[in-house]
Amino acid sequence: MTLKRKKTRQISVGGVRIGGDAPIVVQSMTNTFTHDVRATVAQIHRLEEAGCELVRVAVPDMASAEAISSIKKQIRIPLIADIHFDYRLALAAADAGADGLRINPGNIGSAKKIKAVAKKAREEGIPIRVGVNAGSLEKDILKKYGSATPEGMVESALRQVEELRSADFHDIKISIKTSDVIRTVEAYRILSEKTDLPLHVGITEAGTLISGTVKSALGIGILLLDGIGDTIRVSLTRDPVDEVRVGFEILKALGIRRRGPEIVSCPTCGRCNIDLFKIVEQVESALVNKTIPIQIAVMGCVVNGPGEAREADIGIAGGRGHGILFKKGNVIRKIPQADLVRVVIEEVEEIERGR
Ligand code: SF4
Repeated sequence: MTLKRKKTRQISVGGVRIGGDAPIVVQSMTNTFTHDVRATVAQIHRLEEAGCELVRVAVPDMASAEAISSIKKQIRIPLIADIHFDYRLALAAADAGADGLRINPGNIGSAKKIKAVAKKAREEGIPIRVGVNAGSLEKDILKKYGSATPEGMVESALRQVEELRSADFHDIKISIKTSDVIRTVEAYRILSEKTDLPLHVGITEAGTLISGTVKSALGIGILLLDGIGDTIRVSLTRDPVDEVRVGFEILKALGIRRRGPEIVSCPTCGRCNIDLFKIVEQVESALVNKTIPIQIAVMGCVVNGPGEAREADIGIAGGRGHGILFKKGNVIRKIPQADLVRVVIEEVEEIERGR
């Protein structure tokens, strides 16, 4: 099945193309204090290594806005400044070299303030994301709809887009997130019908690793299957590096982008006679930062093992205290359990060298 993606207007954030025919971009957000330049840069470096393509930082005060210029000098990926409440922080972040701004229509204030941000962004040649959150809608919209309905959120986003356009600003991206999967999907579907601006999709405040991954995979996955979404962010209450990993896993599972090894492994059962959990965990963590798109099957026994292992680039089918190594469908040799992880890693590195 080929996914039919909606063609949106293309913008660029610090050289990363978004929308149109550009690949769907994986982004994340730091959870350090932005004014702590050292900690923020260190976290961004880890995000870069995990494949993060755009990073957002919170700008709650002037010290954070000003820190952007030092952070920018030490990182490779574009940086977006996340602004709430005070439009002057957006101006300062743009002055400090942010590659994009995210503002929230519900709390940024009057049209005059939005126009000032638009003017600054135009001068600096940077785009603005209008980021609507269900928890912070404008009062009149809440009153009109009774609660943060999908329609209300869309109205809020489009109202702010109009403010920006009336200030002759057009490099806009929109997001419209809630922590509820169905409501978020509905909101994006309505929004996508009404605009061709690029959309950043995600489920906000999605939760811990398991619940957040499930909600994000469902919400983002449904939208991507609908052809909606130009950048994605998985939001998790933990190390943002995991957000990037889950983001790529969603894209990989839908066959949209491939980055790094895809590990196929069985759940094990009473037929498994090797310590498969440990082996898979060790293989996964040893290869976590590899970018080579390769399929590795690590299977517990000879029932489904050889079949899966044969289809993968590299495969292991477990036996009693050993595993059979397969490469591109061919049986290579029997390997003692203690050497399996090392051998798989060596095989991946060999394929990498021969690329
Ligand atoms: S591959 Fe073997 S060990 Fe794994 S779940 Fe299937 S039957 Fe059980």
